[in-house]
Amino acid sequence: MHIFKLELVNFRNYARTSVTLHRGLNIVVGDNAQGKSNLLEGIYLLSTMRSSRASSDSDLVRRDILDTEFPVARLTAEVERAAGNLHMEVAVVGRTTDPSHRAGKRVRMNGVARRTSEAVGQLAAVLFTTLDIDIVAGPPLLRRRFLDLMVSQVDRGYLRAMQRYARVLQQRNSLLKQIREGHASRGDLNFWDQELAHAGGIIVKARADALGQVVAHGAQQMDRLSDGRETMEISYKPSMGGADETDCPIDETEWTARMLRVMANTRDREVGAGSTLIGPHRDDWIIEINGLDAGGFASRAQQRTAALALRLAEANYLRHALGDDPVVLLDDVLSELDARRRRGVLEYIDTFQQTIITTAEPDRVRDVMTRAAGRYLVSMGTITAFEGE
Ligand code: ATP
Ligand code: MG
Repeated sequence: MHIFKLELVNFRNYARTSVTLHRGLNIVVGDNAQGKSNLLEGIYLLSTMRSSRASSDSDLVRRDILDTEFPVARLTAEVERAAGNLHMEVAVVGRTTDPSHRAGKRVRMNGVARRTSEAVGQLAAVLFTTLDIDIVAGPPLLRRRFLDLMVSQVDRGYLRAMQRYARVLQQRNSLLKQIREGHASRGDLNFWDQELAHAGGIIVKARADALGQVVAHGAQQMDRLSDGRETMEISYKPSMGGADETDCPIDETEWTARMLRVMANTRDREVGAGSTLIGPHRDDWIIEINGLDAGGFASRAQQRTAALALRLAEANYLRHALGDDPVVLLDDVLSELDARRRRGVLEYIDTFQQTIITTAEPDRVRDVMTRAAGRYLVSMGTITAFEGE
């Protein structure tokens, strides 16, 4: 798929800007703090219904209008897809004193109001940022988020299970606290255990499957990007145990049964802690480079390469799951790569219908500039197309 028109109104530092994008390579040049990352964040928001940076909805609304009666950011994209063209529109309403305006996100697809959960992944995108290294080097939360966002784009059942899991987890945790304080009995847990394990089974099964695909393709990309010098292996570590080949449940109901068993054995500790200690919210997956844990042992360059390989594997996963190319977004990642790795990334990305690359240093990516189908300049929240280099 590819975006052929994008409009941002009162989003971040954009008052109102409209841009026509091309198939193939689009390159967006701009000095620091002009709006390059905001632009890609906007596209990512239209794709996942979430911000790529931790922030509240109000942060997304242009600050100058935040104190007005109806502070709202509007983002629109016209998308050509294998599954039919799409007009995607998201309105982000910031906090307001007027009680008739509800804060939050509203979505319209081809003019029809939809839930945000229905809109996730309709415009599929994969976003590379310089923070991706933290998927490899950072805490488990970031690895879970990588998987969750990737799978949610193609599997609505997964997204629903995640939402239900989060609700039930909260209920169960407050019940565990009540039991600890003697205000509820252990028998009250049975219902919540069932609910949690049911959603948990769906989540863990989907993660195991998705990771299986990422493992195969990611290893290939790692090999390519490092000229065969580095191998990457990935293994899933569900907190309820299992997932190596010898000890891996096959379907959702088996994962659910396992989770119920493990919960039964952990009950005393959970009541003592007043919170749920096992389940998908505690999952992790391990990345090894040349046989050693990448978080603890790999060099920064190896970690960065692994992160790139993972993003490329995500793009490949989305392509196969959707039967259509996701839009590939690179936020300032090319200039930090050596020539070989840059070539490796571009070579693969060239097989996708559309890529949007931002850079503050066009001189360092001359090769890309000359090949681009569209060139843009971002300055103080306005985007203009320009000719030449
Ligand atoms: P860099 O090269 O440093 O990464 P950038 O071009 O990617 O820069 P952005 O991250 O897109 O820059 O941010 C551009 C500007 O947007 C920043 O100066 C920031 O303060 C501003 N900004 C962020 N949110 C809002 C908002 N809600 N309203 C107005 N301005 C905002
Ligand atoms: Mg930036």
